[in-house]
Amino acid sequence: MPSVHVVGSLNADQVMEVPACPRAGETVLGSGMRISAGGKGGNQAAAAARGGARTTMVGATGADAHGRLVRRALAEAGVETASVRTVPDVHTGVAMVLVEPGGDNRIVIASGANSRLTEEDAEAGLAAVEPGDIVLLQLEVPAPVVNHAARLARSRGATTVLNAAPAPADLSCPAPGSHDVLVVNDPEARAVAGLLGIPTDSPEERVVALAQELDALVVCTMGEQGAYAAGSGRGEPVLHVPAFPADAVDTTAAGDTFTGYLAAALAGGADLPDALAGASTAAGLSVTRSGGMTSIPALREVCEARAAHPLTTTAEV
Ligand code: ATP
Repeated sequence: MPSVHVVGSLNADQVMEVPACPRAGETVLGSGMRISAGGKGGNQAAAAARGGARTTMVGATGADAHGRLVRRALAEAGVETASVRTVPDVHTGVAMVLVEPGGDNRIVIASGANSRLTEEDAEAGLAAVEPGDIVLLQLEVPAPVVNHAARLARSRGATTVLNAAPAPADLSCPAPGSHDVLVVNDPEARAVAGLLGIPTDSPEERVVALAQELDALVVCTMGEQGAYAAGSGRGEPVLHVPAFPADAVDTTAAGDTFTGYLAAALAGGADLPDALAGASTAAGLSVTRSGGMTSIPALREVCEARAAHPLTTTAEV
């Protein structure tokens, strides 16, 4: 079966619950402080592995306790970590995550070793890519490395999936025509649409316009409203999958869970409506639990949830 190869960030998440995020000059008392493995790359790799795909991680950590924590967590999730390089003179990436009641979060990242990931790391880590594999990318590592990884992946017959997060500031990545699948949340979709000069009307129109301009399958997640998807062909229907009914306590890594599960399903040969339904179910389960990587459900749980509450992906012309 095709594999998922993730080239991306690895962080130690330092998470605190707060009654409300502090305003400028204000200090608030938080609670429930915990440190756990995260980073969009690491979370999406864990989600792809939990989603049933053979998954490798290409990334970088410092030679510190956080780096060991991240590697251990990836290995526990079933991710192969031989292509995670240790950079001796820099810290492992850190994400400070403040979670408000109801699950909304605010995040600040110190990139550390993630900023040292190189094109050579991508070449070495993607040496085993085969036709049909998925190469999954995000924007928490240098854009030239992302672009290089995408070119390598496509030259070997793999499908590239770019989660354009955090929201890009320019079109060096994603450049139109450079990725097969783009996954964005609503603010990221608006940001990319703004860069492309696309009027941002309804989410359905936005996802269609993005797909055509970028020449890619575009998936836009919309929190409790589920997700929309559109291919680049004119006249193709817009797909919509609802969110899984869930009492959200912490949405950290909901998007990562969605993206990793989507990649695993596509690697496994699922059709798009089925892959979207599985991804939305997995993400819905993740928001019922605290934490980032630790909140990503196992495939067995997702299968049980889908059997109990099947989600239907619908097509709108
Ligand atoms: P985050 O940054 O919090 O990880 P995101 O902003 O990248 O998430 P969202 O669009 O908020 O992405 O959520 C991704 C997916 O997670 C949604 O498409 C949906 O399937 C699921 N999801 C998010 N919030 C909820 C919720 N409250 N209830 C059920 N499912 C949810």
